[in-house]
Amino acid sequence: MINLAHLNLDQIRLAIRGDAFHCPSANDFQFQPNLLILVDEHGDIAACVSDQDPAQAALVEALSQQGKLQQLQAGQYLLPGLVDLHCHAPQWPQAGKGLDLPLYDWLQNYTFPLENRYQSNEFAQPVYQDVSRTLLANGTTSAVYFASIHRQSTEVLAQTCLQLGQRAYVGKVNMDNAEQCPEFYREADTDAAIADTEAFIQNVQSLAGNQHGLVRPVVTPRFVPSCTPMMLSKLGALVQKYDVHMQTHCSESDWARDYALQHFGCSDVQIYSDAGLLNNKSVLAHSIFLTEQDIAQIKQVGAGIAHCPLSNMYFANAAMQTRELLDSGVQIGLGSDIAGAPSPSIFRAAFDAVSHSRVREEGVDVHLPANQRGSANARINFVEAFWMATAGGGQVLDSAVGQFQPRYHFDAIVVEASPFIGNLRIWPEFDSPRDILEKIVCLAQKENVKQVWIQGQQRL
Ligand SMILES: [Zn+2]
Repeated sequence: MINLAHLNLDQIRLAIRGDAFHCPSANDFQFQPNLLILVDEHGDIAACVSDQDPAQAALVEALSQQGKLQQLQAGQYLLPGLVDLHCHAPQWPQAGKGLDLPLYDWLQNYTFPLENRYQSNEFAQPVYQDVSRTLLANGTTSAVYFASIHRQSTEVLAQTCLQLGQRAYVGKVNMDNAEQCPEFYREADTDAAIADTEAFIQNVQSLAGNQHGLVRPVVTPRFVPSCTPMMLSKLGALVQKYDVHMQTHCSESDWARDYALQHFGCSDVQIYSDAGLLNNKSVLAHSIFLTEQDIAQIKQVGAGIAHCPLSNMYFANAAMQTRELLDSGVQIGLGSDIAGAPSPSIFRAAFDAVSHSRVREEGVDVHLPANQRGSANARINFVEAFWMATAGGGQVLDSAVGQFQPRYHFDAIVVEASPFIGNLRIWPEFDSPRDILEKIVCLAQKENVKQVWIQGQQRL
């Protein structure tokens, strides 16, 4: 029940009423038919009013008279906006090709030459416009981007996200290890790169129109092999000085894990921790080869993991321990990992996370008996995948997004099921709310995303 006395409708910017889904916890979803969500002047949720609440009818009438109410239609569903925890914006032109090589060769042959093109703002600008627009159109309201080593064009990415209204976390990539990075694509000088990163943090924080921090700078060491120990510790100092997010790749493949062991004698997690890079704002992409100690350490500091299931199938050499990580209570969400995987859709990442866990559970070798073929009880379900795509991603970022609760930011999408668009079909006679949510995860495409709001502003 909501107390109307505390609501001043003059301070309500808009109200949406419709059938809503969200996940308050990892294994629990709520379906609320005709939920009324009131959004305040700042774009935050002021109240969620159930259709069982006797106050709803009067609110609907009053808001409707003020021209602030949008009523969703049958077949339209209101969901929290999707969170993409790991996307390489400059690799967007490469999406959908070049997945024939292992990680090291893929980087050297395809990715580094492309990323180096971003020394030109003229090259960067249209690509960054397109990747941000494309993610938005797919329902991604929060995106965590790696850019390239170039500060200026990375600032173009930050400005672009701000103009388009996408909640974004943007990082200038750092890589200075001459043994691992090609001469044409590495920092000329470690100290200059650190100064550039510090300038980038200040410039993004002071962008005109960014007073509320819709776009945030992220300290971004590419991964352990590309950085010298000096670079890592100086970046760690910046994380602490500015209290900003940090993103990197963590124990992604056999090669990456072995590199850390051979050169540092410990795991990636320990290396990041020693450098002062690991805290509750860290986003660790992949995190395939984690030890028990790594998992305990990630959990203890409240860092989070970006699970990128499709990319893992091409580059990780092993399957993600998604089930164990969810059960451990470690914060975990999903990433598209463009262009280590081709799809810009976090619905697709959620679907792939379920499939990935099912293949892991069943195993793959037909010559083994069934009880030795896979990893027992490894599966995750569609509710857990949707949670990772929304609230789980929000938790990783320490951001009040991914749920419909008072004081959360109103970042939301409308998914429409209709015979005339995409492949998503709902049969009211056969489909329970759980079925509908599962179908949305499996079948929703860009065409089904009809509206997008970020911080209460309609962006699609
Ligand atoms: Zn990546």
